[in-house]
Amino acid sequence: MSDTSELAVELRDATPPWLLSHLREWISGAGDKGHAYLVVSEDANEASLFAGQLAMRQLCHDPQDGLACGQCQSCKAFLQGTHGDLMLLQVPDGKTAIGIDQVREATHFLQQTALYGAAKLLLVRDADQMTLAAANSLLKTLEEPPGNALMLLSSAEAWRLPPTVRSRCQLLRLPRSEKDAALKWLGSQVGGSAANAEHLLDMAQGRAVSARLMADSESLAAKEALVASFPVLSEQRAGPPAAWSGVDLSVLLSELLVWVEGQVRGVDTDRFCHQAQSWLLLHRCVAELSSRVKRGATPGKDIVIAELFRLCRSRDHAAFADIGGRFLSSLGREGVAS
Ligand SMILES: [Zn+2]
Repeated sequence: MSDTSELAVELRDATPPWLLSHLREWISGAGDKGHAYLVVSEDANEASLFAGQLAMRQLCHDPQDGLACGQCQSCKAFLQGTHGDLMLLQVPDGKTAIGIDQVREATHFLQQTALYGAAKLLLVRDADQMTLAAANSLLKTLEEPPGNALMLLSSAEAWRLPPTVRSRCQLLRLPRSEKDAALKWLGSQVGGSAANAEHLLDMAQGRAVSARLMADSESLAAKEALVASFPVLSEQRAGPPAAWSGVDLSVLLSELLVWVEGQVRGVDTDRFCHQAQSWLLLHRCVAELSSRVKRGATPGKDIVIAELFRLCRSRDHAAFADIGGRFLSSLGREGVAS
């Protein structure tokens, strides 16, 4: 079972006001009578936070104004990270996916009697990171949920979930936060100048909740170094930039993708065909690799870094179509037809 104390701290101290408004609106509007919900936001951390607030609300003994009261026995246990009717399923540290054994443990948990009487509640953070076997195992519980079970899945990439799983859940899609509101909230959370909040929001591609988490962690400097390394790759003679080793492989892949997308968009229209094709091919190579890693592949980090660097450096090469095509073939994908 995953520790829920970190989530509890975020719920108590760092839930943006717009998420509480969404929750209030949703509770007062829709019927909240289902067994399973899928919370979707383009910010995975925001989706997870919203699911956490909804979980606390559903377990609360005395909801106030549509939200959890924060005072009852259930809320107190929730906010201390010790609620016996709550289980959090997420990718374990050092792993790349949620496995079937975790889902089996969760299924067993849902079948037990609720300690506080309201429900047995399962949060599945980044549900798209379940292996196919894990998702199929969860599907059985979604199809025949125990009487007092409530399952809240959250995801930024819900399309990765099997359609059978998606269709068993009521969809709760969070709108993108307003930039002004995001900057105001971020400023109040992290302090510093307005430019600081703006920089953080930029680094997190407009995802406010993720931006705040980034400000708390040591990863900001590592990510800044990473982003700064991309535009000067052509000057890099001595092998991959050191900054690439300083972040998780998933971060390297997603940031590189964002940067390559920017390059595709920035191509001069007069030279579009010639230039854009190589950027698009590079994009496809990185996207395929990223998708592999998200589906649970665990390639050696050093090997991936060396290969990515080689691809990026070869992009201007006349034979890049062949190089990229061979790379895609090695992943079991066909090369791009020209
Ligand atoms: Zn309460």
